[in-house]
Amino acid sequence: MKYKNPKYRKRRNTFPLEISCGNCKTPMVIYAKGGKGNLIKLQVPRIIASEVDLEKHEGSLLCSNCKEELARKGTYDDNVTYWIIRGKVNSKRVNNYSC
Ligand SMILES: [Zn+2]
Repeated sequence: MKYKNPKYRKRRNTFPLEISCGNCKTPMVIYAKGGKGNLIKLQVPRIIASEVDLEKHEGSLLCSNCKEELARKGTYDDNVTYWIIRGKVNSKRVNNYSC
């Protein structure tokens, strides 16, 4: 990942998830996921690392390789949040991710 998020704060009961483009499989984001539910959004303080700086990024998150639209920028609890477009990303758990 090109960008390590300085605003990331480690939280308990989360695990790193690699979010990749569902179309071409390019990894885009490492995200600290909590709970068992489906991944529906990417909150910036939970992003460990990503291919682009998602806080400053404007507009939708596009795959860096094939330009597929993966998530739309919005807010949640006053944090910049990317709402995942259903069916556009793959995610898999990664063990011991280190930046
Ligand atoms: Zn892609």
